[in-house]
Amino acid sequence: MTPSDDCIDPVCGMTITVTQAPHQREHAGATYYLCSIACALRFDADADAYATVARLDLPGWGLTPHPPAVVEQFRSTTDPM
Ligand SMILES: [Zn+2]
Repeated sequence: MTPSDDCIDPVCGMTITVTQAPHQREHAGATYYLCSIACALRFDADADAYATVARLDLPGWGLTPHPPAVVEQFRSTTDPM
């Protein structure tokens, strides 16, 4: 990934440019980019779940935004809440 690449905020699913990501987190050897402090805090609260979402081999991941519903659907299948 180059600095000009877009990436996906694993919390809300929106596409953000790496160089413009206001927040980032290191988790399990990978870097995740968050669009806002709210998303960063949510990532902090459940980093493993969001990191798993980010690793999903969904078509276009990292190229196009995934609808938040996709992320929510995945989370609903793994989150006991
Ligand atoms: Zn976000």
